[in-house]
Amino acid sequence: MANNLPNNSRRHFIKLTAIGLTAIPFATMLFNNAAADPISETDPLAVAMKYKSDATQAADRKDLTSTCANCAFYTSKAGDTTGPCSIFQGKLVSANGWCTAWARKA
Ligand code: SF4
Repeated sequence: MANNLPNNSRRHFIKLTAIGLTAIPFATMLFNNAAADPISETDPLAVAMKYKSDATQAADRKDLTSTCANCAFYTSKAGDTTGPCSIFQGKLVSANGWCTAWARKA
C-alpha cells in the first residue's frame, strides 16, 4: 500500500502537468483576443518603444512601408485592424501602427 504513494503522486503530477500544458494555448488565445485592450501610446513600454497607433506619426520610421501588419511580431491575421504583438504582451496594437522593434515579416 505504502509503495503506491510515490506512483500515485507521480501520476497526479503528470496529470496536472498535462492538463496545464493543454490549457495554456486556450488561455493564451482567450487572453490575446477576447480580453486584450489596445495598447495606449502613453503606456511606459509604448513610450519606450516609440509606439504610434498611426505609423505615419512615428518620427523614427524610415521604411515608409513598415507597419504592424507586416511586422514579424504581429500575430493577427490579414485584414484585422488590431492584433496581438509579442512585444506588448496582453495588449492589442493597431495594424497601421509602428514601433522601434519593427522587423519585416518573413
Ligand atoms: S513590434 Fe511590430 S507589431 Fe509590435 S508594435 Fe512594434 S511594429 Fe507593431
